[in-house]
Amino acid sequence: MTVRVGVNGFGTIGKRVADAVARQPDLKLVGIAKTRPSFEAQRAVDHGYSLYVAGEGSAEKFAAVGLPVAGRLPDLLAQVDVMIDATPEEVGRANRPLYEAAGVRAIFQGGEEADVAEGSFSALANYEACRGKRTLRVVSCNTTGITRAAAVLLPRWGVEHWEVTLVRRAADPGESKRGPVDGIVPTLDVPSHHGPDAQTVLPGLPIATTAVVVPTTLMHVHVNHVRLRRAPAEAAEVVEAFRGTPRFHVFAPWERVDGTPQVMEFARDRWGRDGIRGPDMMENVLWERGVSVHGPDVHFFQAIHQESIVIPENIDAIRAMLELADGPTSIATTDRALGIGRARGAARPRAAAATPVRRKA
Ligand code: NAD
Repeated sequence: MTVRVGVNGFGTIGKRVADAVARQPDLKLVGIAKTRPSFEAQRAVDHGYSLYVAGEGSAEKFAAVGLPVAGRLPDLLAQVDVMIDATPEEVGRANRPLYEAAGVRAIFQGGEEADVAEGSFSALANYEACRGKRTLRVVSCNTTGITRAAAVLLPRWGVEHWEVTLVRRAADPGESKRGPVDGIVPTLDVPSHHGPDAQTVLPGLPIATTAVVVPTTLMHVHVNHVRLRRAPAEAAEVVEAFRGTPRFHVFAPWERVDGTPQVMEFARDRWGRDGIRGPDMMENVLWERGVSVHGPDVHFFQAIHQESIVIPENIDAIRAMLELADGPTSIATTDRALGIGRARGAARPRAAAATPVRRKA
């Protein structure tokens, strides 16, 4: 069975989702919808994607700059089984009646409130609970990072309490209208919205989140302190649990990755290898040396590439909705198509496994 997919909104998330859909063996990208001509509309045409006019957009404006359009959004809706809405926050909610009227399943993004869809989705954390739904919301980049980590910690040791401070990027690299460009801006609401959002995926997760926004565009970094129900034997046990889970990339000390600049340099270097799309980092990124254990207390840092972490989740959400596969099979299929995981092995020679893991007293 080939599932026909459309993407509405072709910005940071939409263009990556479209590329990811186009690579899957069981999905077909029918087309993408955009409101206005832009370099990104040109990119869609260059990739061979059929372009449809969304919202209040005018077909004449596309024609005026030589961009061929195949129709308007309703024409695209008439041809697809699933629509992925990657429009700016609140536009997805406004679009929902269009998808309902067309009888098309819909996936929304984390900028929408949770009640936009029947369920909030994070593949490692709640794939099974989302099977068969007609609408899903893929949670935000930060919430995806938290719920993936929870999917590692919860089944192995249980979580008594989790405090995380999110150091959030100010803007995406392609944005020029957001800030701060200098200074640090605390989010004064406690908890920040991320904790309650994680609980839409994992109800009852005992998590408290705080956040600050800093002038960087590369990635977010989470500073985690988790009190587990059962103490791990040593930090290496926690490191190996993360390292052995799909969609985690753990840097060893010998790799000399100090922070997000080297993480994104690593992503640029591996671009194209094993078919990886773009200078993206779709995995949660951890530092082996940054995982420490004191009895039941675990500290770890993780970096989140906000532009790409939710891309594999959008693909798995399609398979969960249509019950095309179980969670592990879907995750493996998605990751194979996107090159995730193979690159992890390639970057870590066997000898590196012997790197001693620091354990604090
Ligand atoms: P974006 O601004 O980069 O892209 C949105 C695109 O939708 C733009 O090209 C815009 O022109 C277009 N658009 C606007 N109105 C439209 C309409 N009515 N119909 C069709 N297209 C329309 O935004 P983004 O960063 O890709 O965010 C999209 C969603 O993904 C939001 O819910 C956001 O919260 C979420 N998200 C963003 C990030 C991130 O870091 N960028 C991470 C995770 C989730």
